[in-house]
Amino acid sequence: PSITRGVTKEISTVSWDDIGGLKDLKKELQKAVEWPIKHAAAFSRLGISPIRGVLLHGPPGCSKTTLAKAAAHAAQASFFSLRFIFKQCYILEGKTAHFHCSKNIGFLSYKLYSKYVGEGEALLRRTFQKARLASPSIIFFDEADAIAPKRTGPDGNSSGNVTVGERLLSTLLTEMDGLELATGIMVLAATNRPHAIDAALMRPGRFDKVLYVPPPDVEGRFEILRIHTRKMKLAEDVDLWKIAEYTELFTGADLEGLCREAGMAALRENISATSIHNTHFQAARSSLSPSLTKAVLD
Ligand code: ATP
Repeated sequence: PSITRGVTKEISTVSWDDIGGLKDLKKELQKAVEWPIKHAAAFSRLGISPIRGVLLHGPPGCSKTTLAKAAAHAAQASFFSLRFIFKQCYILEGKTAHFHCSKNIGFLSYKLYSKYVGEGEALLRRTFQKARLASPSIIFFDEADAIAPKRTGPDGNSSGNVTVGERLLSTLLTEMDGLELATGIMVLAATNRPHAIDAALMRPGRFDKVLYVPPPDVEGRFEILRIHTRKMKLAEDVDLWKIAEYTELFTGADLEGLCREAGMAALRENISATSIHNTHFQAARSSLSPSLTKAVLD
């Protein structure tokens, strides 16, 4: 990536094939996100109104963000990603906006920090405006429960968070309702806490589709390991299926870390190593703990 005046330019290479497992979910997303953007003319010919928003929920590190990026890549859409974190009555915006510039997916991204209440709404409006200009576009909200927390009753929690959250939420609802007139714009959101999201976002025309992104099962783990070892020099004694079997409760992100750690173990043993052996994966496994707990699988 190159950085010019706070603007980072990067090329996204995330495709459906970079995501292990989740076959049915990928198909769902193709139909819900990729088709309406790629085949907009067919949708309008048949008078089908595409869904406007998809909410992805599930444990952290299990590819919600990666799925959104892959959908944008597959639909050749601009990808705008926003993330709001609240601290008392300030908004700490970790903002990354991505603009698709050419046929190849090229992204510009920038991050900024703002502590002024009110900027969040302006940022939201600006993002939707940019998305309309750059259409087809996907707007992605990470940690959507922060932007649209459940509203409490009039006597409920009146902390700064809720006030700021309510203002952002009503801006988001207005913008999403406005999408009815626009084509080629889809809103995707991710959360680990779907129950913490305000019900107003689940009304028709907003997040009409809610998809659970589960932790990987053994086959999923095998595929994830295959993906993350694609470029690694593995010795013949490495059996990815066996590793998949002894990594229950590992997320995709954990497995990515395991592969990296196995490579590091090989280097630590011998800086001139030419391949990574089974023993290195075993060493990596014993030095790392999974992020998930049994409760998530139930
Ligand atoms: P969070 O809730 O913390 O934002 P997330 O569900 O959005 O997490 P991602 O950010 O998409 O998860 O994934 C984290 C990392 O784990 C990515 O860099 C990705 O490469 C890897 N990963 C997760 N799941 C998979 C998968 N199914 N296949 C391949 N890689 C995966």
